[in-house]
Amino acid sequence: MQHRLIWFRDDLRVSDNAAVSAAMDCDSTIQVDAIFLTADDEWKSFGYGANRLYYTEQLLKSLALELAERGVQLQVIRLPDYAHQAQWIKAYCEREHVTDLYFNQEYQWNERMRDHEIATELAHVNVHSFVDRVILQPSTVLTGDNRFYSVFSPFKKRWLSVYRESNHAPYRPPRSNRPKTTPLSWTSLADSSESDLAAFATNERQALNDLEAFTETKLIQYDASRNQPSIQGTSRLSAALARGLLSPRQCIQAAEDAMRRPIWDFPEGAFSWINELIWRDFYQHLLVGFPRLSKNKAFRPETEALPWRNNAAEIDAWKNGLTGIPIVDAGMRELKATGWMHNRVRMIVAQFLTKNLLCDWRIGEAHFMRYLVDSDLGANNGGWQWSASTGTDAAPYFRVFNPVSQGETHDPEGVYICHYIPQLADLPKVKRHAPWLASVPNGYVDPIVDLKSSRQRAIDAFKDLKA
Ligand SMILES: Cc1cc2nc3c(=O)[nH]c(=O)nc-3n(C[C@H](O)[C@H](O)[C@H](O)COP(=O)(O)OP(=O)(O)OC[C@H]3O[C@@H](n4cnc5c(N)ncnc54)[C@H](O)[C@@H]3O)c2cc1C
Repeated sequence: MQHRLIWFRDDLRVSDNAAVSAAMDCDSTIQVDAIFLTADDEWKSFGYGANRLYYTEQLLKSLALELAERGVQLQVIRLPDYAHQAQWIKAYCEREHVTDLYFNQEYQWNERMRDHEIATELAHVNVHSFVDRVILQPSTVLTGDNRFYSVFSPFKKRWLSVYRESNHAPYRPPRSNRPKTTPLSWTSLADSSESDLAAFATNERQALNDLEAFTETKLIQYDASRNQPSIQGTSRLSAALARGLLSPRQCIQAAEDAMRRPIWDFPEGAFSWINELIWRDFYQHLLVGFPRLSKNKAFRPETEALPWRNNAAEIDAWKNGLTGIPIVDAGMRELKATGWMHNRVRMIVAQFLTKNLLCDWRIGEAHFMRYLVDSDLGANNGGWQWSASTGTDAAPYFRVFNPVSQGETHDPEGVYICHYIPQLADLPKVKRHAPWLASVPNGYVDPIVDLKSSRQRAIDAFKDLKA
């Protein structure tokens, strides 16, 4: 008698889910159960914050209902770490006579090691693992000599050619041929969040509606509006994608439906959005190709010798949005208030921390990990190491963003900064991004660093490294 077990991770949806679709492709005489295992201590050591855990909790609640409608019960089990997860799975499969285990692949080092151990030790269980988190499987986008790409442009070129040659039909919806059941209860992962997460979809229907609203109305002008933090010019679907409430395939499908053509025929404005989904794949592929990225190491080993200053008072000011540089402070306040930050502003605050304050990128990465509801090792590490010029395809070290001109270019009226720092609204628009130049007192903090000399200090540190 077959007994199938679906193991959910950051793939908390039933539609277009490779593992769910395969596991539920059977008649109702076959028992199908589902589990989600926490790794509380290990996740704490990764820096996962209350925002991520609370959001996950909301998604688990809606997933449990979706599964119960289809006659499957979801058990959520609190465990300390991945070693206990592996033991739990082995014991459960033995006790419950599980014949088949289904899960979607994860690409971080610890998760891969855990899955490898389980697959080798579960001698009497058929282990079925699937590519679901990314659009293209990591080992399928390689250089001519079978290496992982470390530069985005050639990766993208290859990605597009592999994509064109492969089939991307959505996975079959899970069959609902078994009697409905009732969801089980569990001990909550987090009772509350640190930020107000009301803006993020907590069930599949909502997430698909958000996706459709974006692709139907905003996709076409994405390129023109994606860098303006004061408007909703981007999809804001990163939390849904990071926790797997949506699949990246669903995103491409919705974009193609809206544009009524395949992605390779998209106009530039809309293709830029697909480009971001390819970046997302790129960072997951890098985790597989370069395991040191999962181990807190710089992609470029020589940058480990940078003389990071790590000044505690400056880091504190950065974290709390009190650096005196409006676009940086607005971004850091947005992060704390909402658990999310606009991509352009993420790059600005990351460069300010790593270049102007010459602080180790790992400090910023950990702070983002704590607050971001979309926190994801691949994208977060990739974004931080890009900004710090320590990573693959990184920003050249001598091209340091000037946060004032960045602010003036991408938030010319100061709408975004005034939202988070209201006293700036009293200043003339031309002075809002550099309030220290205004002759009137405005009650806002003075800059903690001189932008010009601190920029030079960072460039010199990188130059010394090269020497
Ligand atoms: C320092 C830094 C840290 C970051 N940390 C994370 C993180 O922890 N989790 C995360 O999902 N993204 C991270 N990003 C990437 C990016 O900022 C967010 O994905 C984006 O802001 C999400 O907004 P959106 O959903 O409106 O994106 P859109 O512009 O609508 O893009 C669509 C989707 O593509 C993906 N995407 C977009 N940009 C990137 C990118 N540069 N790299 C990888 N994927 C991308 C996201 O899944 C996003 O939802 C980081 C970027 C930087 C510079």
